Amino acid sequence: MNIRNKLLIQFTLFVVAILLIFSIGIYSLSSQYRKSDYYSRLQDKAKTTAQLLFNVREVDRDLLKIIDKNTQALYQEKIYVFNEDDELIYSNPSDVEPLKDLTILNTIKKYDNIKYLDGKREVLGLTYEFSERKYVIVISALDRYGYSKMNNLRLILVLGFFIGVLTAIFTGFIFANRALAPISKVVNQVKDITISNLNQRVDEGNKTDEIAQLAITFNEMLQRIEDAFILQRDFVSNAAHELRTPFTVLLTEMEYTLMQDRNTEYYKDALTNLSKDIRKLSKLSNGLLDLARISFDKTTFNEKTLRIDEVLIDVYSNVKSEHNNYSIKLDLESLPEQENQLLIYGNEQLLGIAFKNLIENACKFSEDKKVDVKLEYSEQFIVIHFSDNGIGIPPDDLERIFEPFYRGKNSHYISGYGIGLALTQKIILLHKGRINVQSNENRGSIFKVILPLV
Ligand code: ADP
Repeated sequence: MNIRNKLLIQFTLFVVAILLIFSIGIYSLSSQYRKSDYYSRLQDKAKTTAQLLFNVREVDRDLLKIIDKNTQALYQEKIYVFNEDDELIYSNPSDVEPLKDLTILNTIKKYDNIKYLDGKREVLGLTYEFSERKYVIVISALDRYGYSKMNNLRLILVLGFFIGVLTAIFTGFIFANRALAPISKVVNQVKDITISNLNQRVDEGNKTDEIAQLAITFNEMLQRIEDAFILQRDFVSNAAHELRTPFTVLLTEMEYTLMQDRNTEYYKDALTNLSKDIRKLSKLSNGLLDLARISFDKTTFNEKTLRIDEVLIDVYSNVKSEHNNYSIKLDLESLPEQENQLLIYGNEQLLGIAFKNLIENACKFSEDKKVDVKLEYSEQFIVIHFSDNGIGIPPDDLERIFEPFYRGKNSHYISGYGIGLALTQKIILLHKGRINVQSNENRGSIFKVILPLV
């Protein structure tokens, strides 16, 4: 069920409930009022009759009947007066049928005043004392006027109820439509946004109400999606470009070599060059694959508790075996007393790739090919510093070196593809850590990796 119908139903039910409570309340209060008013009229009438009958000597029974008839009689009024021995001493009209059940007289004597219904007739029984004798008066009548007023009231309330409900449905419909119109507008605008017009935004209305907040949040999300989309598109085109160039170079080298017969020495040199280029190419494609894997599927990596110093020692030997001219100073002298200050939870292979990139960069971009790796411990984190005295990073590039394929302006004469740091940052973020860099051009750089402890 859509929100509009839900709102409409809830609003209508609410109005129905209020109208019902209101109508039932009014009807039952009026009914009670009618009843008590009518009984007090019956009582007044009974007392007046008794006073005239007993207290006023000048009035005999026949005269009383005439008076009774001519004073405002209640509709179909019947009055009976009994003496102490339950003998009827007066009744009006005189030809009234006798009381059906005389046992009621005892009940009246017991309680002095009782009220009950005999069919539609309201009956009041009460005692009246005169000259130390107790008489019983039973008076009954039909509250025709009261009941007809109640019928009218019922009709008005029922009509009012239906008119109220119809008005509630109608106004509810209009209000729900009006309140939800901006949402429908946003929905229609969102439907029009596709990959080809990701730069389109939805109308933010008055920028203050809840729907405007929704539109603003949605626009912010669109912005993030657009940024990610552009990043990915650039990544793919950069990757294609980076792969195409070395392939072309390889092909040209091979074709040139095959253009004519060469001596063994030439073939050996050519093959050595080719294998160097292929190794670079394989490094590039591995880096790209790792980056894509980490970017698109973070769930496939096995994680376990690792000792950070052991990971670094492995990386150390790995880099040393590939570049024996690199000088790596791994400072593990002052390890903390508690082992858990070295324990992190993560993937050994990925962290290995990240640390290797940082060590290789430090050496690659320094004339002395030296890197200093230091650990700093705290209660919740471990910080690993990679410092070098190399070419440094120009301030303008500092912001961008973590973007895929971005290379510093001063680094173009040094081989590389600009994906190492992007990959490293992704790996560190995957481990809920942070990476930052401080650098002075021509003086050196310090990359700091901060990882949470287990
Ligand atoms: P690559 O090393 O292949 O160029 P990276 O993504 O590893 O790619 O690095 C991106 C850029 O960051 C490098 O081209 C370089 O300009 C800069 N950079 C990274 N590490 C260092 C460093 N230790 N010293 C100086 N510049 C660095």
